[in-house]
Amino acid sequence: MPTRSPVEGICIYCRTLSSNLGDEHIVPASLGGKVLIRSASCQSCERITSRFENHCADRMLRPALTHIGIRGRTKIKRSQVAVKVGKAPYSKRHKMPVTEHPGMLWMFSFSVAGILFGNTSSTPPVGRIITRPIHENIDHRLKNLSALGPDVSLIDKPFDAAPFARLLAKIAHCHLVAEIGFEHFEPLLPTLILNDHSDEQLLNYVGTHIGKNPESSDLHSIWHSKERGTNGVEYYVVHIRLFGQYDMPMHYVVAGLPK
Ligand SMILES: [Zn+2]
Repeated sequence: MPTRSPVEGICIYCRTLSSNLGDEHIVPASLGGKVLIRSASCQSCERITSRFENHCADRMLRPALTHIGIRGRTKIKRSQVAVKVGKAPYSKRHKMPVTEHPGMLWMFSFSVAGILFGNTSSTPPVGRIITRPIHENIDHRLKNLSALGPDVSLIDKPFDAAPFARLLAKIAHCHLVAEIGFEHFEPLLPTLILNDHSDEQLLNYVGTHIGKNPESSDLHSIWHSKERGTNGVEYYVVHIRLFGQYDMPMHYVVAGLPK
């Protein structure tokens, strides 16, 4: 279900006029996103968004994406997953078949988005890592791992919370652009999305819902609502549940002011 950019010829992030705008997936294709905004992003912004998208897809989510069979734009079918064997700094990468690897999904959860509650953050994002198994025969698969020795790490490449928080901001911004258009909201997120030096601002806008998540059969789901902060201001809030069918939490992003 492709949608179109509501502002023809203008980049949805930096708002500059360009005759060379690329299509933009709301959820990156590398994560299995299918909905795209046509002619949306200039090349300069695309380079920036690709960096944090790739960080999440190639580091935090690579084992899970391989297990679930999401191939992304490259369409490469991966059949092996890397683990780290041995104690640092002498650890080595070891590739094992996806059929034997335990298959874990990792993601960060955050506290509340500060702007809604008047407690603004001034530190780079710190997240709690949430882990979920992808397969039911996890015990059997973990035994395969213990056969490799006493020091095996499933985390092959380290990953950070800031690129993931920034990815959520990007998804939220794209969702509002596609669903309601710039004529109906004043965006709050482009500076945060484009500027690496804005890390300490991210958690003012990005949060994670607490409590039990409803069961979901959808890989990803996104919707928006209007919510009033404790400061009395009404905001557009975008709710984002990535990998909901694996019981991952629902995040939310304060993405804009109603016009
Ligand atoms: Zn741009």
